[in-house]
Amino acid sequence: MKIVMLGAPGAGKGTQAKKIADRYQLPHISTGDIFRTNIKNGTELGMKAKTYMDKGNLVPDSLTLELVVDRLNQTDCKNGYVFDGFPRTIPQAEALTGALEAKGEKVDFAIDIEVPDEEIVKRMSGRRACLKCGATYHILFNAPKENDICDRCGNELSMREDDRPSTVLNRLSIYHKQTQPLIDYYQGMGCLVQFDGTKDVEEVFNDILEVLGE
Ligand code: AMP
Repeated sequence: MKIVMLGAPGAGKGTQAKKIADRYQLPHISTGDIFRTNIKNGTELGMKAKTYMDKGNLVPDSLTLELVVDRLNQTDCKNGYVFDGFPRTIPQAEALTGALEAKGEKVDFAIDIEVPDEEIVKRMSGRRACLKCGATYHILFNAPKENDICDRCGNELSMREDDRPSTVLNRLSIYHKQTQPLIDYYQGMGCLVQFDGTKDVEEVFNDILEVLGE
């Protein structure tokens, strides 16, 4: 099963992508996580990506596609995957379609999670992440047991640089301009499914499972 997740930053794509990947034993491929790991490890790709990410801008397609093609060729991808945060532009979606077509494959589901902008801003300002183990929290909806401390590894939690309010507004405007057109793109390909992302996490997940055939 090949799945791409669509939706504004903060709509809950990452949370649902992880749950779907767990349920169906598929790799969860988050381009944002791959860039963040590269930044943490000080790689050349990480240094290049950071200058765009810190401002809330998209990393250029050429850099993004290079890492995605490399990831798709790894053996754990042979039975499918859940892409989270990719594709984010029409050229990225076209490149993915082309890479799949070359192998006689296609995206099975483009899962779009819809949340209004005002709600997104509220959500993102409360997000916290553990830079050590990758766990994510929200001060209102999924708070750690101890304030600002990771439940899983005890590390101090931080706010992502790009979750700061001014950056969030830039990310939303980029989402509307560059990523939202993918909804029509995947609708045209006949694999778009849309969900109300204002419901709680488990409800959204159940709605998704119903469509995926459970
Ligand atoms: P995310 O964790 O998915 O919200 O991504 C964080 C940031 O990484 C984005 O704001 C972009 O700067 C960059 N990024 C992640 N995925 C992509 C992509 N497919 N294309 C371009 N930039 C990306």
